[in-house]
Amino acid sequence: MNHEKLLDQYARLTVRSGLCITPGQQLLISAPIEAVPLVRRITHHAYVAGATLVTTLYADDQATLTRFKAAPNASFDTAAGWLFNGMAEAFKSGSARLAITGEDPGLLGGQDPDKVSRANRARSMAYRPALELITSFAVNWCVVSCATASWAKSVFPGLAEEDAIAKLWAAIFKCSRADLPDPVAAWAEHSRNLRRRTDFLNGRRYKALHYRAPGTDLRIGLVDGHVWKGGASTARNGVVCNPNIPSEEVFTMPHKDLVDGTVCSTKPLSYGGTIIDGIKVRFENGRIIESAAEKGAAAFAKMIDTDEGGRRLGEVALVPHSSPISASGIVFNNTLFDENAASHIAVGQSYTDTMKDGSGKSAEELLASGANASLIHVDWMIGSGEMDVDGVMQDGAIEPLMRRGEWVS
Ligand code: ZN
Ligand code: ZN
Repeated sequence: MNHEKLLDQYARLTVRSGLCITPGQQLLISAPIEAVPLVRRITHHAYVAGATLVTTLYADDQATLTRFKAAPNASFDTAAGWLFNGMAEAFKSGSARLAITGEDPGLLGGQDPDKVSRANRARSMAYRPALELITSFAVNWCVVSCATASWAKSVFPGLAEEDAIAKLWAAIFKCSRADLPDPVAAWAEHSRNLRRRTDFLNGRRYKALHYRAPGTDLRIGLVDGHVWKGGASTARNGVVCNPNIPSEEVFTMPHKDLVDGTVCSTKPLSYGGTIIDGIKVRFENGRIIESAAEKGAAAFAKMIDTDEGGRRLGEVALVPHSSPISASGIVFNNTLFDENAASHIAVGQSYTDTMKDGSGKSAEELLASGANASLIHVDWMIGSGEMDVDGVMQDGAIEPLMRRGEWVS
């Protein structure tokens, strides 16, 4: 298959299996400027599927960098609140949401970490009302990606730009199953397999998970009435969508006060334009009380200091070490891919739909039940072929869940 054909299959997959656009629905897309050819194909397939209006917001990494080099100090406490309010308005009136990632993972690595964290914080605060509608699945949404030059060069630093882009696209198409003869059917089958796994875990009703790996000995308590999710999600507007393409994870809600022990990251994390690697943290009563990182330590420390919830977990996810993304052997420096290559945890905001009746609870009720609240939600990878995970039953009995990174059953 040539690139044009693959790009078209990927665009159709995004609309049909990712977003599952319904006739009469609007679509709001955000994308890097290099994604224009992909956005045009997605726009075509969205209108064919019955979308009434497709609106795209393009972002430019170089303009972002210019801000850090030339803008006055006050710029870094400023965010486009009016734009995010408009996005929230769009979701409230039923618009679907597509985010296309592909930004340079190390774009802001050389910039003042204080300015970077202030800018991230201002953006997170302004974005919150819109993000809450997304994390609570008010509408169908999806995240896919585009192989940009800067991202491709960070993944394949030894290759010429053109070759790096081609190789990254090939990996994206393969991990997304967009290179199969019928990607939409392949996703339906994959979703069913993830569903079997979440049905099994929901039946076990574990009290906690216990992780062991080199440098890791961590017990994560789960909230009462936690719900394992994975693959397709039913949004509150009734649409069944696949919010991440690719997606290999099953995930649920940890209890924000019941996490204890130490954990080491197993892959680098790209956060707000900085690469953070070699993370080691210690939790006590749910809170990170010690943290270190071999690379990007200042950015990591500022990230978890965003607010109280930034030091506590909001998501726990299990991914077998043999996942196609892990099998590719590529470190993508992009959470959409790397989080599906390994079991991971996320500090920050919980997904309310990973708790029974969570979307109907007030903010106070959610906190009281162990859900976490934060301006951030950042996944980082802790799984490997050396990780064992046990499920702790309500009566304290232990059963093996994963051995050497793979499902036991
Ligand atoms: Zn996750
Ligand atoms: Zn997450």
